[in-house]
Amino acid sequence: MAKADYYEVLGVSRDADAGALKNAFRKLAMKFHPDKNPNNPEAEERFKELNEAYSVLSDEEKRAQYDRFGHAAFEGGGAPGFQGGSFEDIFSHFGDILGDLFGQRGGGGRSGRGRGSDLQVGVRITFEEAVRGKKCDVTYERHDVCETCKGNGAKPGTKPHKCKTCGGQGRIARQQGFFMVQTTCPVCQGAGETVKDKCGDCSGQGVKRVQRTLSLKIPPGIDDGMRMRVPSEGETGGPGGIRGDLHVLVQVEPHAFFKRDGSHVHLQRDLSFTQATLGDELVVPTLHGEEAVHVPPGTQHGTVLRLRNRGIPRLDGHGQGDQFVTLNVTVPTELTREQNELMQKLRAAGL
Ligand SMILES: [Zn+2]
Ligand SMILES: [Zn+2]
Repeated sequence: MAKADYYEVLGVSRDADAGALKNAFRKLAMKFHPDKNPNNPEAEERFKELNEAYSVLSDEEKRAQYDRFGHAAFEGGGAPGFQGGSFEDIFSHFGDILGDLFGQRGGGGRSGRGRGSDLQVGVRITFEEAVRGKKCDVTYERHDVCETCKGNGAKPGTKPHKCKTCGGQGRIARQQGFFMVQTTCPVCQGAGETVKDKCGDCSGQGVKRVQRTLSLKIPPGIDDGMRMRVPSEGETGGPGGIRGDLHVLVQVEPHAFFKRDGSHVHLQRDLSFTQATLGDELVVPTLHGEEAVHVPPGTQHGTVLRLRNRGIPRLDGHGQGDQFVTLNVTVPTELTREQNELMQKLRAAGL
């Protein structure tokens, strides 16, 4: 059977760059990963092909050889034969690419030393709080290593035993046709150890769900949808592991009349046609108190006035934005008798 073209396997063009390759591989590898397709030899075959294609195309030197000689570049002696590749080789470059998806099975549990997953918590603040910044407390739930058993899940005074099924590996590899498939050990759930007498405090889990409250300083100028990262306040990575991060998603409530655009603020203001025609002094609200603005005679509908530095502080600490006031000239819909007479006179005078 002729081997499929590596570019076709990944569904990319021949000039795809490293990023495009990686994306294509990641997407397809997720789809055909053996863990997601148990007992599916076709998916297994596709997965193997993907893996092989990516191994070659992601390596600049091998890619150049492949572009020149095709599959012939790797046939015969000295070539990077995949057939003989060990199980570890096949999974080795999943570490960086699929690590977050497949690498941390049971993260946060007894299964391991590693990096705990990241957590996200939302906070809702008012428009003004976003402008001035705010100190606030966020409360969320996460897992901590159980203090009673120090995370091994065993009743104090007892010890966990090495899992007999997987020999302490946490995973079992089995041959499926031509390909080795690795699965989490069903007996120890990947921990590599089994516990006979479970710790009563954590039911043998090694971790406990706890409520945590953190004091946060939300910086002035933060905008709706922005995320703050609090390092090492996420999920536990198990005994000796590293904590994940906490992401704080900030939601900012809209303002009754100010609209935000980055560090600038927009305000709409109605103007009667006499104010627009003759000019006026207006008092407008700003985020920094009321401000008098001059409307020159002959101001047109839609005119925008700019109040410098009356906007929102920039997050980088360099000054603040401006406020823009859009003037909308209104036309009266109901006139008193006197007003009507005056309007008639204006018309007679040529206005
Ligand atoms: Zn415990
Ligand atoms: Zn096991």
